[in-house]
Amino acid sequence: MKYLYGPVPSRRLGLSLGIDLIPYKICSFNCIYCECGETTKLTNKRKEFKPVNSIIEELDNYLSTKPELDYITFSGSGEPTLYKNIGKIIEFLKNKYPEYDLALLTNSSLLTDRQVRKEIKKLDLIVPSLDSVIEKNFQKINRPHEDIKLAEIIDSLIEFGKVFDGKIYLEVFIVPGVNDTLEEFKRLNKIVEKMNPDRVQLNTLDRPGVVDWIEPASEETLKNAAEIIGKKAEIIGQYSSNIEKMSINSKIREEIIETLKRRPCTVKDLSNILGLHVNEVNKYLRELDKDYEFKITNEKRGRFYFLAEEE
Ligand code: SF4
Repeated sequence: MKYLYGPVPSRRLGLSLGIDLIPYKICSFNCIYCECGETTKLTNKRKEFKPVNSIIEELDNYLSTKPELDYITFSGSGEPTLYKNIGKIIEFLKNKYPEYDLALLTNSSLLTDRQVRKEIKKLDLIVPSLDSVIEKNFQKINRPHEDIKLAEIIDSLIEFGKVFDGKIYLEVFIVPGVNDTLEEFKRLNKIVEKMNPDRVQLNTLDRPGVVDWIEPASEETLKNAAEIIGKKAEIIGQYSSNIEKMSINSKIREEIIETLKRRPCTVKDLSNILGLHVNEVNKYLRELDKDYEFKITNEKRGRFYFLAEEE
């Protein structure tokens, strides 16, 4: 499949079929924790990056086999709402396959655009990110396109929260030393009260991010944040369940180990070699990280993973 990947079992979405509408690695942010690597094209301009009819055709072919799915999810290796015709795809799915629930993982940056809000309003679940409500921390973590303004994102999240009929799980990625202060959590909570999402999911680093200095937040920090936010808060990330483990294919796992013993590769290299989506590759790397010690180097082409022979 060219545009679809999975279905992938995930804790948040159950069995989810991914739709990736954006070429690697175009995004409106360049987050320091991005598992897909550095953004190579930073933009806030929407475009039909891939022909909408081909995407619809692939979806139609796949869904006509009536697969069992909990969600069809717009996600991938860049910001899905940058895709200009996401609304057409949602229309198609809602008309022809109304039995499936649709989800969107978004960095929230384009929710400031009324047209985007209109196109995504029929979704069943939106997981928007809001890592910091303080400008300097937002800049440090998300490194957005220069035209993107945090205050406008916050306003649009609050507005959208009032009119959206589906569920909203707000995601907050906590970076120690940046957005882990009491002040940050209290200010975030004020926004949460106005926005009224169904859940607030607190996440932290699982695997090395784009920069060297980023570390996972401690369980204590995540619990402190959860306490301030109250009963809607939920801790995910490295403390989450073993659901991903259940979807590990031992042959693919071995293939990745053998490849990384032979030569250092980026996530994108592994994706090309194995014909897997980058999100799938990341899932395997997360799993292998528990048993192996990767040698990691940052080079011009991105982050390289390598496994020394004796391991
Ligand atoms: S918004 Fe998502 S895809 Fe874009 S840089 Fe951040 S983590 Fe990566």
